[in-house]
Amino acid sequence: MPIKSLIDRIDAVLPQTQCTKCGYDGCRPYAAAIATDHEAINRCPPGGQAGIQALAALLHTPELALDTRCGEHQPLMLAVIDETHCIGCTLCIQACPVDAIVGANKLMHTVIPDRCTGCDLCVAPCPVDCIAMVPAKTEWTPDLAIVARQHHQQRQRRLSTLHPEPSSLAARTLANKAPLSVAANIDTAGRQQIIADALARARARRQKP
Ligand code: SF4
Ligand code: SF4
Ligand code: SF4
Repeated sequence: MPIKSLIDRIDAVLPQTQCTKCGYDGCRPYAAAIATDHEAINRCPPGGQAGIQALAALLHTPELALDTRCGEHQPLMLAVIDETHCIGCTLCIQACPVDAIVGANKLMHTVIPDRCTGCDLCVAPCPVDCIAMVPAKTEWTPDLAIVARQHHQQRQRRLSTLHPEPSSLAARTLANKAPLSVAANIDTAGRQQIIADALARARARRQKP
């Protein structure tokens, strides 16, 4: 089978949350690694055991248990922004792989629930911890995966127009710009507080087992 169509078929089985928990920059890069580098088929927590079974059947390879070093399989969650605390820094918009967050610089941001894949990539960058993941009360479906792939591809096309370098580098470039603009828009005390809070969160994360 041509390698591109094998990547397509593997990608079609993956959940398309674009969460990067597999260690790759989205579902398609993981699909490419499985197809070309013999990457393990058990690195996708959102897909869970059912996803691993589907990959094993597609590739005629033994089923493996989920590699929990990548994360646990969990019910679908959605991001919710506490709009009263949002400072409009735009960091979450830049982190979201499917353009599920709307807002503008220094204005309140909000999540479009129908677009959110529950990837939680917006949570860590928020400097004021005002994004929570809450149970979605619905299940992730193949139809939602198809739509999420389209949203991710639209975003990648937009980023590649703005930055002709690879999308991951473009995302990093955009992400690196934000702290500068945030810092420019906040007074010294506010800046110091944001840095102190970020350090405290980083220390707390490091202390977790
Ligand atoms: S859903 Fe997340 S872990 Fe699974 S393949 Fe896509 S990016 Fe990787
Ligand atoms: S809003 Fe947050 S959790 Fe939802 S898709 Fe975007 S980055 Fe992921
Ligand atoms: S990262 Fe947090 S503070 Fe910044 S815009 Fe998003 S929700 Fe608001």
